Amino acid sequence: MSVVTRFAPSPTGRLHMGHAFSAIRAHDFARERGGRFLLRIEDIDGTRSRAEHVAMIVADLQWLGLSWDGEVVFQSARLVSYAAVLKSLREMGLLYRCYCTRAEIAEALSAPHGAVAAYPGTCRGTPQRDAPHCWRIDMAAAVARCGDLSWTDHGQVVANEALAQGDVVLARKDAPASYHLAVTIDDAEQGVTDVVRGRDLFEATHVHRVLQALLGLPVPRWWHHDLLVGAGGARLAKRHGAPTLASLREAGVEGAEVAATLRAGAG
Ligand code: GLU
Ligand code: ZN
Repeated sequence: MSVVTRFAPSPTGRLHMGHAFSAIRAHDFARERGGRFLLRIEDIDGTRSRAEHVAMIVADLQWLGLSWDGEVVFQSARLVSYAAVLKSLREMGLLYRCYCTRAEIAEALSAPHGAVAAYPGTCRGTPQRDAPHCWRIDMAAAVARCGDLSWTDHGQVVANEALAQGDVVLARKDAPASYHLAVTIDDAEQGVTDVVRGRDLFEATHVHRVLQALLGLPVPRWWHHDLLVGAGGARLAKRHGAPTLASLREAGVEGAEVAATLRAGAG
């Protein structure tokens, strides 16, 4: 099976060196294997996503010398698909309404008894009411329905720890999908075989693996790379005194040079 990777930025601001590093890793992974590299704009956050950022992302990637295959996919155009999947998960009895405000959740998380890292399930089993709500997955019930939920990172088998992530949000108060739901559906829909992305999303993968099992989606391989700190990035930032790719580009820095430095630092 031919390799397909993707770069999936959220257009909520300018790209910086860390994004460039991640895009190059995903791009090169596919190209070195004769595969396809896709660009997906994760713009379900209607209040924070902006068209000007999308234009900047495209210009930044071109400047770095990266090319992608096919049309750019926008998550904002796929809300109907997310809503349909959400409905089927609801019909499986795995979702519940959460009415908590951010402040209430923050308060619950800082409660003195026990260090709770995930949403403590406050609204699970409470009566439905007519009020703004997001939809959360009952993770324990979901995991109980699935068989083997392990996955691979750099070819190594990783035991699933989705339970530690708690009842994550699958649909927001203002959108029929959350990052977890949209990314899982789209990776499957676009035939992504290898997810190359930063280590900051390692824990999220446990959740994505559960969703794949529930929805009968194919399971890709994951390659979480170290985040760019110091090394090439710091050197570049220091030399040019500029953190965003756009500012480097506008200052006349050669994108090919930046890309070469990042590749050299990747080891
Ligand atoms: N849109 C996510 C971000 O910008 C990345 C999604 C992913 O690679 O899974 O952090
Ligand atoms: Zn709640």
